[in-house]
Amino acid sequence: MATLTKNASVENEVKKFIKRLSERNPNETEFIQAVEEVVESILPFIKNHKKYSDPFILDRLCEPERVIMFNIPWLDDKGNYRLNRGYRVQMNSAIGPYKGGLRFHPSVNLSILKFLAFEQVFKNSLTTLPLGGAKGGADFDPKGKTDNEIMKFCQSYMTEMYRYIGADVDIPAGDIGVNEKEIGYMFGQYKRLKTQFNGVITGKGLSFGGSPLRPEATGYGTVYFAREMLKKQGEKLDGKTAVISGAGNVALFAAEKLIEHNVKVLAVSDSGGFMFIKDGLMQDVLEKLMEFKFEKRGRLKKFAEEHNYDFYNGEKPWAVKCDMAFPCATQNEIYGEEAQKLVDNGCKLVSEGANMPSTKEAIDVFKKNKILYGPGKAANAGGVAISGLEMVQNSNHRPWTREEVNEELRNIMRDIHDECTEYGNDGNGFVDYVKGANIAGFIKVADAMIAQGLV
Ligand code: NDP
Repeated sequence: MATLTKNASVENEVKKFIKRLSERNPNETEFIQAVEEVVESILPFIKNHKKYSDPFILDRLCEPERVIMFNIPWLDDKGNYRLNRGYRVQMNSAIGPYKGGLRFHPSVNLSILKFLAFEQVFKNSLTTLPLGGAKGGADFDPKGKTDNEIMKFCQSYMTEMYRYIGADVDIPAGDIGVNEKEIGYMFGQYKRLKTQFNGVITGKGLSFGGSPLRPEATGYGTVYFAREMLKKQGEKLDGKTAVISGAGNVALFAAEKLIEHNVKVLAVSDSGGFMFIKDGLMQDVLEKLMEFKFEKRGRLKKFAEEHNYDFYNGEKPWAVKCDMAFPCATQNEIYGEEAQKLVDNGCKLVSEGANMPSTKEAIDVFKKNKILYGPGKAANAGGVAISGLEMVQNSNHRPWTREEVNEELRNIMRDIHDECTEYGNDGNGFVDYVKGANIAGFIKVADAMIAQGLV
């Protein structure tokens, strides 16, 4: 195990811990990256708090409670047999049943899902809701697939997964490549196999148990978090400029909330490149873009051509001059040099809609330049928070209104911001939100693990 050693300096201890973790989990670069960021923040805290000094707490936090891997056979429209690999990583259930999204993307592998599940443990703890951490998905690419193929794939995925999940056991949701449509197909198959209609999966359509505002929650929440960071500095969103990466669920709802706050959104992107909108994205164009992306899974380049916007093939939007950046696409999309470019161009705030979009080098640049930097596990926790409220609505058999949910979302994002401030404040008015989020998330999970003994 990657057990901590006594009497070593914190820096050495982090290095040793990560070395042993890497040996135990070879080639899992994303997982190691996510753990390193957390361990760097919480080891100094652990050293000063005897209660948490049992090294096995950290070891167990880094070891999934269960990993499920399975094959997913399905038939394409031409009658060919197809095969994908499916996963569910049940990371930690100390504070509640496992909860976390499903990602369908060709890049999906065990390392990526373990990093996402690990992050989810801390994120779910920050929401203050009783949710453990998990993540799952498959190396399936929904792009270019017909509706019929997507339905068959989702049904085959659930034909294996249904054994390991349940409304009080493990409650999946969406992530990259998994939106309301895929959730609907998976929920339908679960219901058929189990003959149970319950809150086993969140992100459902409104007509069968979904929560108002769940599709919007992550993007809106990321903007609410940015607003809190600005408010603490006596500043506002209004009148600022922003650049967003991604053009999916998180990105486009972040854009919508920013526009509502009079922010000029100068760019959005997809894996083909970024679209530059000199005068700022307007709500009517955004609505067309949502339809184009959500209904047709269209390419941004085509949309830019059709609407006469500049499109930068294969480029990321980080060289666009802006006040704020919202990375909302995927992991490791801002490298050190790109972070430096953002800073040099006057960017003062980064709020992460995506999970781990900034590399370690990028985070170092943000910290060194005292950028208001909201890490994903805090800034994008709005999605899972509203998923948690969807579970409450399902078990009470009473849906809430959009206004009730929005109010809760705003409150939860404010509370997460305050938790980060409590543990990340350096005493001179600067908040290290990474440190704050990691420590605040850790305490609740560690307390529950200690109370439950060695299980
Ligand atoms: P979507 O599938 O709806 O959108 C993803 C977007 O990111 C697409 O525009 C996609 O472009 C782009 N993208 C994906 N991979 C890459 C890549 N390797 N390089 C460049 N662009 C890429 O996913 P979501 O919006 O749901 O998720 C986005 C991020 O937010 C992820 O990191 C996810 O983990 C995180 N997140 C999502 C939550 C949710 O509620 N959905 C909750 C919390 C975090 P293209 O279509 O060309 O692939």
